[in-house]
Amino acid sequence: MVDYCLLLMKKEVDRMTLLIGPMSKHLLGHKDLTDHNDIVEVSPDEHVLIPMVCYGSTNVELLVKEGDRVKVGTKIAIRNDNMTMPVFSSVSGVVSCVQKNMHDMLRPVDHLFIENDFKYEKVRSFEPLDYQKASREELIDFMMNAGIVGCGGAGFPSYIKYKYAKDVKTVLINGVECEPYITTDYRMMMNNLDLLIIGCLAMKKMAGAQEVIIAIKETKKDLIAKVNEAIKSYPDIKVFPVPDKYPMGWERTVIYQVFKKRYDRLPGEIGVIVNNSTTAIFFARALTTGEANVEKLITVSGDGIKQPANVKVRIGTPVSKIIKSLGGYTADEVSVISGGPMMGRTVPNDTFVITPCSNSITVLIKKDYPDIACLRCGRCSDYCPAALQPVRINDMEKAKDVDSLIKSNAIDCIECGLCSYVCPSRLEVTEGVRRGKRMVIARKKQEEQK
Ligand code: SF4
Ligand code: SF4
Repeated sequence: MVDYCLLLMKKEVDRMTLLIGPMSKHLLGHKDLTDHNDIVEVSPDEHVLIPMVCYGSTNVELLVKEGDRVKVGTKIAIRNDNMTMPVFSSVSGVVSCVQKNMHDMLRPVDHLFIENDFKYEKVRSFEPLDYQKASREELIDFMMNAGIVGCGGAGFPSYIKYKYAKDVKTVLINGVECEPYITTDYRMMMNNLDLLIIGCLAMKKMAGAQEVIIAIKETKKDLIAKVNEAIKSYPDIKVFPVPDKYPMGWERTVIYQVFKKRYDRLPGEIGVIVNNSTTAIFFARALTTGEANVEKLITVSGDGIKQPANVKVRIGTPVSKIIKSLGGYTADEVSVISGGPMMGRTVPNDTFVITPCSNSITVLIKKDYPDIACLRCGRCSDYCPAALQPVRINDMEKAKDVDSLIKSNAIDCIECGLCSYVCPSRLEVTEGVRRGKRMVIARKKQEEQK
């Protein structure tokens, strides 16, 4: 018992070793709804709405004004506080105004309206850069100025990981894509192998790493074969097949799977930098073309959409336009989720737009379930990848007991949705933990301001 307490205090060994449960689960992927279908191109209508939000912050400086002409790739805004993040126009046309619009952060925020002239004239946003000749510093600056953000959903500016990299041995390219329905990383890798390799090599150089490992689900045999063929003459790049479990794509889980190591705060502690596979491809595309990434491949899937598909779409295009292009909804009552069904956010309507970190829209038919009380079965704890006790955290949240929420590590929740998924009573356990986590964050902010 004493040993257990010591282990609990030592975070790198952490709670995962102690609470015996699977901590991950094979989920029905529904990937076949979109993974081999034709890609559908959806063009914006007479305007796009570019969100003035960068990595959750609205502290964004506008660089254009009403009436200005812009082209595809014109820098229109920048976040420049503790991080630098440029925003580019996705169409050519005229700047109209700034207006509030629904954002997938679940609140209205400022969006720049740009009238689309349908010419799609381009401007070179920056000079292309040969990663083989460029220095590490030049590559990091390029990544920053090109606005490369994590494409796994979070949208963290990627250059920061490299700027502070020290003693990195491995760049781990995360191509796991463990959430049900989403197939964009799969399609991006299948269709852009040359760029994937360039991105890997450029990132390896920036990190001063010795190797690149690409993690892909072992069930994606066609992709693994194609990537292995493409990297034949690159001995420093390897593919690592990982089990088809959720949340295998979570940084901690995939790192443990590949290296059998845990870390306290950041993967750099064990000599690893992690980037999403689509991020590597976008970085390579910017390096080779000098063009900003203003288009995304988005999986639009679920039982609530008539024609599930991977959609090529410009940033700032309203989701309602995409839904219409795919034949509309299959039912009157649907949930529109920005992201996958596990970690995504249910948005009250479909007026929100595609952002640089969008990767999917999941549409599910709403179903009513009878109210059943918690069975105290413990499944939510058994499966929690962060080794939390979601049902207890729900109780603390209901009691507004922030001290207990802090002690129970509610802040470590990665909002993966697994506790709700496995709950036999179909309780919204994740929502309770999410609220509890917000309470802890609010308390920490209050303490910082004192
Ligand atoms: S949502 Fe949070 S509490 Fe629930 S299983 Fe995932 S990490 Fe654990
Ligand atoms: S919340 Fe659900 S999974 Fe967790 S103990 Fe209760 S019934 Fe079981």
